[in-house]
Amino acid sequence: MSGLILIKNGTVVTADGVSKKDVLIQDSRILKVAPAIDCEAQVIDASGMYVFPGFIDAHTHYHLVSRGTVTADSFPQGSRLACYGGVTTVVDFADHQKGMNLKDSLAFRLNEMKDGMAIDYTLHQGVYGHGFTPDIEKQLEELKKQGVRTLKIFTTYRETGYLLEEREKIKKLFKYAKKLGMLVTAHCEYNPTIEEISASWKGDFLPHAHADLRPAEAEAKAIEFYGSCALEEDCPFYVVHCSSEAGLNAIRELRRKGGTVYAETTPTYMFLDRKYLEGEDGPLYVMTPPLRTERDCVALRQAVLNGEIQVVATDHCSFTREQKLSSCDVRSIYPGIPGTEELFHLLFTAWYENPVVGLEKIVNVVTKSPAQLFGIYPEKGSLEEGTDADIVIYDPSEKWVLEDNNVHTAALYTPYRGFEVQGHVKMTFLRGRLMMADGKYLGEDNKGVFLKQHD
Ligand SMILES: [Zn+2]
Repeated sequence: MSGLILIKNGTVVTADGVSKKDVLIQDSRILKVAPAIDCEAQVIDASGMYVFPGFIDAHTHYHLVSRGTVTADSFPQGSRLACYGGVTTVVDFADHQKGMNLKDSLAFRLNEMKDGMAIDYTLHQGVYGHGFTPDIEKQLEELKKQGVRTLKIFTTYRETGYLLEEREKIKKLFKYAKKLGMLVTAHCEYNPTIEEISASWKGDFLPHAHADLRPAEAEAKAIEFYGSCALEEDCPFYVVHCSSEAGLNAIRELRRKGGTVYAETTPTYMFLDRKYLEGEDGPLYVMTPPLRTERDCVALRQAVLNGEIQVVATDHCSFTREQKLSSCDVRSIYPGIPGTEELFHLLFTAWYENPVVGLEKIVNVVTKSPAQLFGIYPEKGSLEEGTDADIVIYDPSEKWVLEDNNVHTAALYTPYRGFEVQGHVKMTFLRGRLMMADGKYLGEDNKGVFLKQHD
């Protein structure tokens, strides 16, 4: 029979559990998930393999125009490296363009993306200080009609006009978000703290200074301030790339007071500490917020395992090795690092080496949890019958080492160089189409679909 693919004998793991089941795909959809399916189909033997829902990287910046240049990974390149990591959906960002309303800013980004994306995508829409006009409520309504209900605000970056700092405006945004069922996500670094430190700074500006110029206390303070505004409006609040134990503690405190707070972290903050900022390669590890201490890494890994952190995404924002190393002054180093491809490999390895919770908990933070928060569940993030056949077949058997030359980012380096990882993504399906198999990329640049977010 044409159009039928049967994945047999694998161990199926979704956020809801682990079981020995077969998965039958018909064209773009999952037709059936059950033990021992027998039918005439193209059979893929997944003995000894895990079968996961396609992963979601809920925080990416592919083809980001920034600081007079553009990031290394274009939409086609981003899609390609994502497939090597089993990622079939990304949530990228639409900047709030100067002089443009939110709907037009979204349209601007969608137009940039439409011909280049080979995997599916949706967007967080930036709501920046420079464009916070009196008609903002109306703009949010319009935006939601376009299929985007997650917003991104900045608590810092006055110089670019991103900063949203007035309590009155912040509260207004939470009020409208609550009314419209939208989710406000925030980059949390308290600007007054950062401006104060930088005004009195007497040290150098080498990469290691980055961690002291933007310390963990600034993250905690921003979470406290913006989170309390959300709490007063009884509105949920989502902290992007939480980087520190102090930040985590601020989240715990808000929850203790009754706030609904969601937290995201990245493998960067889980597995790399500020020692990487020392030495010649220091610039390669500059991103914001900065790397913290080993203690912070441990606290974040623990919080992912115990469910205090809901999403692990990457903040993939890649510049080439050459671009990164062109400066060793933190004020001018291009900020950001790659990571989508490494995301699940690192999470799986950490779990494999210390399986204190079920694998479904790890799968949850890159499938169901982000899909639910960003309004694309169960089409994405599940293996429910009738949903998109986005599937990853993962071979856990072999150990290998991440090196600059075995990842697929155009940045031409991996921040995790030398890390030994357990197993690899063997096959990636998107809507029933094989996108990557045994190291060979099979995607097509314009086949990615924009996913409208629902309530
Ligand atoms: Zn980001």
